[in-house]
Amino acid sequence: MTGFVHLPYKLRTFPTKSLAAYKPVACSATSGEGTGNGAAVNFQKNRGLVIAEIAVDKIRRPLSRTRANDPDKVKALMESIAQIGLQEPIDVLEVDGVYYGFSGCHRFEAHQRLGLPTIRCRIRRGTKETLRHHMR
Ligand code: ADP
Repeated sequence: MTGFVHLPYKLRTFPTKSLAAYKPVACSATSGEGTGNGAAVNFQKNRGLVIAEIAVDKIRRPLSRTRANDPDKVKALMESIAQIGLQEPIDVLEVDGVYYGFSGCHRFEAHQRLGLPTIRCRIRRGTKETLRHHMR
C-alpha cells in the first residue's frame, strides 16, 4: 500500500537552497559565554550574514506591542517546531551588541511558548541609523 505522508505546516514551501545553506549552525548559546549578550561565541558566516543561536530573552522586539500575532499560526508553528525544529531562522539586527527583531514574530512567539531557551537567527549588523529606520 502506498502511504500518504502529511507534511507539517508550510513545510512544502521551504526553499531547499536556503535550508542547505543554514545547516552548519554555530553552537548553543544559553550561557552567553564570551559575549555577555546571549549569542553564540562561534559564528557561522554565510553570504555576509551570520547564523547563530541567540537566547530568546536577549532579543528585543520594540514593535511587539503594536502588532498582534495570529494565534492559530503560532499554535501550528509550535507543533511543527516541536516536531521538526526551526527550519528557517528569524532575521535579527545587531546594533552595538544588542539584538533587535522586527519580523519572524510567529516563530519567536512559538519559541517563547514552547519554553525554548534559544532561537536560530540570521544576524545582520547595523548602526543606530538602521535601527531608527526600522522603528519608523
Ligand atoms: P513569522 O511571523 O514567524 O514569519 P509566518 O507564519 O508568516 O510567521 O511564517 C512562518 C515561517 O516559518 C515560514 O517562513 C516557514 O518557512 C518558517 N518555518 C520555520 N520553521 C518551521 C517549521 N518547523 N514549521 C513550519 N514553518 C517553519
